[in-house]
Amino acid sequence: MSKYIFVTGGVVSSLGKGVSAASLGALLQSRGYTVHARKFDPYLNVDPGTMSPLQHGEVYVTNDGFETDLDLGYYERFLGIKLSKHDSVSGGRIYWDVLNAERRGDYLGATVQMIPHVTNKIKEYIAQPTNTDFVICEIGGTVGDIEGKVFLESIRQFANDVGRRNVLFAHLTLAPYLEQSGELKTKPTQMSVRRLLENGIQADILFVRSPRMLVPDEKAKIGMFCNLPAKNVITSLDVDNIYKVPLVYDSQGVFDIMAEHFGLPNAAGDMSKIKKIEQHLNADLPVCTIGMVGKYFDVADAYKSLNEALFHASIQNNVRLKIKKIDAEKFAPEDCNDVDGILIPGGFGSRGVEGKIAAATYARENKVPFMGICLGMQVAVIDFMRNVVGDENANSTEFSKTCTPVIDIMHDCDSENMGGTLRLGAYPCVIKPGTLAAKIYGATNISERHRHRYEVNMEYKDALEKNGMVISGMSPDGKLPEMIEIPSHPFFIAGQFHPEFQSNPFDGHPLFNAFIAAAKKK
Ligand code: GLN
Repeated sequence: MSKYIFVTGGVVSSLGKGVSAASLGALLQSRGYTVHARKFDPYLNVDPGTMSPLQHGEVYVTNDGFETDLDLGYYERFLGIKLSKHDSVSGGRIYWDVLNAERRGDYLGATVQMIPHVTNKIKEYIAQPTNTDFVICEIGGTVGDIEGKVFLESIRQFANDVGRRNVLFAHLTLAPYLEQSGELKTKPTQMSVRRLLENGIQADILFVRSPRMLVPDEKAKIGMFCNLPAKNVITSLDVDNIYKVPLVYDSQGVFDIMAEHFGLPNAAGDMSKIKKIEQHLNADLPVCTIGMVGKYFDVADAYKSLNEALFHASIQNNVRLKIKKIDAEKFAPEDCNDVDGILIPGGFGSRGVEGKIAAATYARENKVPFMGICLGMQVAVIDFMRNVVGDENANSTEFSKTCTPVIDIMHDCDSENMGGTLRLGAYPCVIKPGTLAAKIYGATNISERHRHRYEVNMEYKDALEKNGMVISGMSPDGKLPEMIEIPSHPFFIAGQFHPEFQSNPFDGHPLFNAFIAAAKKK
């Protein structure tokens, strides 16, 4: 049977529960244990696919095509695991299941109640088998939220069901620092742990977010008020890069606390993979500037996975990454004067699209290394069709009723999920031998994740190819173009998919690694 770690948070939101949860997983993995991760979000949306990135940052997509919270991205990247629709569970989905079961008559006339019906449903999702030594479950929101209460009740029951030594409750709080008195205040942490206790949950380990390390007196005070040994009070130090968090935890003996709780042998972990990232962060390296021509820059985290993938590739290439945010709506060629590479990310709707097309034109004409992602591939094809093939009407039917629909809806639109007609999740792609894509991937059969509605229209394949664009990747049935490139350009490549969802900090991703290598060379 797996052992479970539940991560809750208190005092304020956005303390980094996802990163903390992932870091615990990294510590366990470094001692040879296998780990799975799940996120429970108490809100009432049935899935996060319908939530605005303006509120929640990017929509992450799993291999099985589920649109999830971006925390699942942290788990996949940190832990090198693949998650699915079973691992992102919202309150809305739980109630949806329960109410549908009620309508079907599954409850045989019983009065349907929060306890046991809703709590049992939540426990069912928690307990879905994983074949791993540990399952880490993050509970979204903050202790005290009305929506979260039934989730806390469920994890309390779950610990009682499977045995208290098989479940560890980790709680993340904040110790605000008062500049004037030079004090770190522990009261909010005390209050938060008390609220957790009101729900019958005693925290086993506390992670206290703070701008400096807690001193022994502060740990002892928190331990005394919060009913746990001072050594189980851990400073969750503010750091400038999330990959330092596992090292901060490791240096405070967090694994040993988990080992003691679960009855595991103490062991020193191999943290060398994460230390390599720390070394990269501390090294003196040449700067590589990537111009990202996008439009969601005012939203923190809207390009989360993309920023991560670029950072991962900078580690592989020994360069200091600088991302220059270029507003597509105000694009001017001069914006690209000081960049080493141009990246056009995914996007929806016509706002800013002409600026993105102009950026693709600029990269192509000036031989600046170029990478297009999803919409970024579509605008590269529109530019080529307009300015190389010479058909000025070329456009996507997403943006205009053009008579040259070089980008159009081409796949069957029979999807039942809320994404509607979106092509979602992992699809295979066959790469043409001898192309740049084949060289980069070192393979001719790959799989990448999708989230889009439009595709390159195969009616224009000949026109594009006769003029020097190569369609280097195709869906196996030969119907949907997946990758394009321009062989006469030093590095011009784009994919209809989102490779950023499969990048990790230890190896990067072949496409991003090659793009940064080309930019470095420039
Ligand atoms: N809007 C485009 C489409 O739906 C591209 C989507 C994206 O970049 N993810 O096809």
